[in-house]
Amino acid sequence: MLITGATLADGRVRDVRIGDDGRIAAVSEGLGADAGERVLEARGRHLLPGAVDVHVHFREPGGSHKETWTSGSESAAAGGVTTVVDQPNTSPPTVDGAAFSSKAALAADSLVDYGINGGVTPDWDPESLFERPLFALGEVFLADSTGDMGIDADLFADALDEASARDVPVTVHAEDATLFDESALDGDLGGVGTAATVDAWSAYRTADAEVAAVERALAAAADRDARVHVAHTSTPEAVDAVADAAEGGTAATCEVTPHHLYLSRERARSLGTFGRMNPPLRSEERREALFARLAKGAVDVVATDHAPHTVGEKRAGLVDAPSGVPGVETLYPLLLESARKGELSLERVRDVVAANPAEIFGLDRKGGVAEGRDADLVLVDTADPREIEAAALHSAPAWTPFEGLRGVFPEMTLVRGEVVYERDPATGAASFGEPVGRNVRES
Ligand SMILES: [Zn+2]
Repeated sequence: MLITGATLADGRVRDVRIGDDGRIAAVSEGLGADAGERVLEARGRHLLPGAVDVHVHFREPGGSHKETWTSGSESAAAGGVTTVVDQPNTSPPTVDGAAFSSKAALAADSLVDYGINGGVTPDWDPESLFERPLFALGEVFLADSTGDMGIDADLFADALDEASARDVPVTVHAEDATLFDESALDGDLGGVGTAATVDAWSAYRTADAEVAAVERALAAAADRDARVHVAHTSTPEAVDAVADAAEGGTAATCEVTPHHLYLSRERARSLGTFGRMNPPLRSEERREALFARLAKGAVDVVATDHAPHTVGEKRAGLVDAPSGVPGVETLYPLLLESARKGELSLERVRDVVAANPAEIFGLDRKGGVAEGRDADLVLVDTADPREIEAAALHSAPAWTPFEGLRGVFPEMTLVRGEVVYERDPATGAASFGEPVGRNVRES
């Protein structure tokens, strides 16, 4: 296939040829079409690298009533996400080789490429896990007594050692449950669903609890010369702590979610329990400070923590509703809308959703529109925002915390040169994804 006249993130207008091997064969001006080659005229539109969402929960095995690899990956493709990295808190959790293999069998349904993270619990088996194409340890819950995969500092140190020995990063969920404010959950929490006072959840899981745990995770990583990736930093203080550690020589990177960038306690009152997630939404002041850090380049990665639950599950009371929101399909659209409005550069968007996550997680063929890379590509009219409506999204639970905001959605998404999503008309592609762990091994 030859894509002609596309504008890249840096503003250059180029033709892009995709080889039969699914990789980008050339990025140049004036490439002529070969006989029989499919030509896609892209003048006036942008061609961006597919996003690498390094933090999703696609729920299989064990939670297929919330999401499946099929529905989750369709949602990813429609949002321009061409690689997802699934976290291990499924049922059973991905903490040994057998659990890894059974998840990999389900993930074969995926429309987009995928990585599977290994998890850490007192029962984990690093030997059998690392026999699999495992390229990172994933959402390791440090000192999170409210999560069923929460671990203590000793086990966290073991996880860092095992990962460091194989030169793979550890993604950590850092919240110190001993610093939560239990009193915030006393009293009248406003009933269920959208009537509930989700603000109490934010008051309960304090910003201090995040910052303290992030600092501990960074210190432990520095002690062991390990690579640590801090998931969903929701406070500017935590982003700064990671940046300081990195400046001091620790191999530390940080990730921020779209919900912490676009929603806040003040903005999300009407969401009720649909706005409950961990870490929780912060004040509008903190949200603005977080966004400012993204704009100036202090945030390494934007990833979604796509954590779907059914509408029925989210309608429970504040204490009983599960934490998490869907987001894989609205990641690129929200950031591209910010770029359209001049709040971020397109190059910054490209870096935080594609180039940086691919580099941090060693996915050498992902994350760039360049010769030799996989042709994981997104074609988009960056001047064409649309209202975000749950009814138009593909994730199984069919709701979004971003309802009514605007997003710039892809017209077409390709994975290794194959069209996996076309807004008009839909392709009806079945499964196409491959494990990216294999790419890591081969390269
Ligand atoms: Zn998560």
